[in-house]
Parts: sequence; structure tokens; C-alpha cells
Amino acid sequence: MAANGRPTPASMRDMIRDEVRAAPPYAFQEALGDVKLDQNEAPRDLPEAVRRRLLDRLADADWNRYPALRAEEAHRALAERDGWHPEGVLLAPGSNVLIQTVVIAAGLGRTVLTVEPTFSVYGQQARLLGAKHVSVPLQSPGFTLDVEGIERALKQGPGVWFLADPAAPTGNRHDDGAVERLLDVAREEGWLTVIDEAYWPYDRRHRLDQVRGQPDRIALRTFSKADAMGGVRLGYALGATETISELTKVVLPFNVSTWQSTAVALLAADAEANAAREARIEEAIEERARVYATLEAMERVDVHPSVTNFLLFSVPDAKWVYDQLLEAGIRIRRQDHLPGLDGHLRVSMGTPNENDRFLDALTRVLNLEVTHG
Ligand SMILES: *Cc1c(COP(=O)(O)O)cnc(C)c1O
Repeated sequence: MAANGRPTPASMRDMIRDEVRAAPPYAFQEALGDVKLDQNEAPRDLPEAVRRRLLDRLADADWNRYPALRAEEAHRALAERDGWHPEGVLLAPGSNVLIQTVVIAAGLGRTVLTVEPTFSVYGQQARLLGAKHVSVPLQSPGFTLDVEGIERALKQGPGVWFLADPAAPTGNRHDDGAVERLLDVAREEGWLTVIDEAYWPYDRRHRLDQVRGQPDRIALRTFSKADAMGGVRLGYALGATETISELTKVVLPFNVSTWQSTAVALLAADAEANAAREARIEEAIEERARVYATLEAMERVDVHPSVTNFLLFSVPDAKWVYDQLLEAGIRIRRQDHLPGLDGHLRVSMGTPNENDRFLDALTRVLNLEVTHG
């Protein structure tokens, strides 16, 4: 300790684990700009009447009491919506929490396997928790799975293997045959496989058939994207009863608040909420096709096909284009720091009007860029 009572750099070394001190803070640039296309959120909030119904329910809840250890109504509503058995559902305050849970349950002292580039939280949790992180690069063109490379990594297991499918931030769906083959190898080698389906609604396809009845696999889903509830923090896992029971031991008790479970119980079963969700998904899919076609026609833009609610594209100078768009009030996300994504930016599908503003600004910026060099 220094004389003023603050920890000195040396005592910080004694106090905080090496893995934590070595980790950078979570990289998210809180940027200004009224067109927010940087976090793949739903651009439209829930219908006013649904929000009112939720507020009425919250007004009737007991705020002074701890929530139920396991919110039965919410789990049943989710199971009903997704065609699952209620004991195979685990609700948490965001699917990020479940990523951490799974690393603790199946990755500590073992290996966390991912592809690269992928959702950063898998590797970040692996590093913070001191698990070994192995990543296998996706192949170009098309960000496909390196089946032999992943098989080789799986044979060094076991541990936990995270696969975002639809993939993020690349936006593609992985090949069915490749995934099936790798799921089989993962099982033989004793891995827990996590299929992160955050973006499945925008592809109207999922892999629950490969998870059902398979204790070595779970699917992760979130309320942050298609369900328009990013601010409420809700995600869940679907799996076999015995697997979900083990994961339940690892999550902190009472981690889902009464407010959160009330929101799930209402939303998963509310006809108006579900109709609005369908309309939002439909709009995102239509906008994706339109924005993709417009980007594809731009001269210095290379855009990748996507089955999600975002598009990944490259430009000659990503930092400059990002800064210029920000100055025009348009917030998108840089991806050019990620391996294999030099020059890449990512844009979420907003409302048609927001997307037009993005496209207009990008056209203008790219014309400027010619003179900028
Ligand atoms: C957005 C996203 C999530 C959502 O995480 P939450 O904690 O539920 O908000 C999960 N996985 C991927 C790949 C995502 O892009």
C-alpha cells in the first residue's frame, strides 16, 4: 500500500489475478448519434399496449420479496413458445451470463473452443476465468467452418465448444453437413457444445432438432434482438433436463429478478407481443435484402451475405468511414480489429428511414473518400 491508502501497482499484482489484469475492458465505444445501428437491437420498441400490460403486472408484484428461485410461469411460457420441456429451460439475465455459466461448468481447467472471428464474449470469459482458449480461423471466401481444423482441436479436448449459428459478426449460417459432423466428433471427445442462436429468428431456422434429447448440447437464445428487450437483459438456454440441472447449480441464486421473469411470462404468451415480433422480424428481413442490394451496387464496398439482422461489409478505410458516419450522426460498429476482418464495418438493420439515412451518408462519405485518398 502507498501512504495514501491506494493500492500500488505492486500490490495490485498481488491482489488481482494475472488473467484479469491482462484482460482489456470490454470494447464498446459509447458513441453519440441519433441513428443507432451498432448493437443489432430491434429498432422498434414493444407496442404501447404491451408495455402497459407489463407495467400493470409489475405494479401487482411483490417488490419487497425475493423472486422465486426458479420462475415457473416464465419457464413454462418459454417452453411453450419454443416447443421445449419446461425442465430443460434455464432463464438468466442475458445469454452472456449463460456463456459465463457454461465456461465455469465445463471449461475451467479445460479448453474453450471457438472459431475466429466470432462473438467476443466466449473468448473473453475463457481468458478471465483462466480456461485455455483455442480458436480455429474461419475459411474464406464465405467464413466457412474449417472442419478438419476444428476436428483436430476437438481431439485435444474436452471442454466447451461455442458455435454462433447464425454466425456473428460474419452473418452467415454454417453448413448443415459440417455442423452435424463436428457435433458428432464433439460428443465422441466428451465436449459440451453450445449453439448460440441469438439470430435464428432472422433466418427462420434453428438447430433445436440437433439439441433435443442430447445432453452434450445446449442452445442459447436471447431477448435482446428479435424480442426487442435489450434493456431488460434476458437470455435462456434450452437443453436436456440433466444438463440444465447442472448449469442451474452454477448460476447465482435469485439472479433473475421479479421484473425480468414477469416480462418473460407476459411476452412469451402475449398474442399482440408475438404479432409485433413477427412484424419486426419481417421488416428486418426485407430491409436486409434492400440494404444488401444497395451496398452491393456501391463501388468501393464489399458486402457479405447475411441471414441475420446485420450486414458486414468492407471499405478501403474503415476507421475513416466510421468516423465520418459518426460525424453525420450514424452509429455503426467497427470490426476491423478482429482477425480476418481488416477494413470491415458492421451495420444493424434499423427502420427503413434509418437505413436510408445510413445509405445516404455512406454514399456521400465514400465520394469524399476519393478525394481524401
Ligand atoms: C447479441 C448477442 C447475444 C445476446 O447476449 P445477451 O446477453 O442475451 O444480450 C448473444 N450471442 C450473440 C452471438 C450475440 O450477437
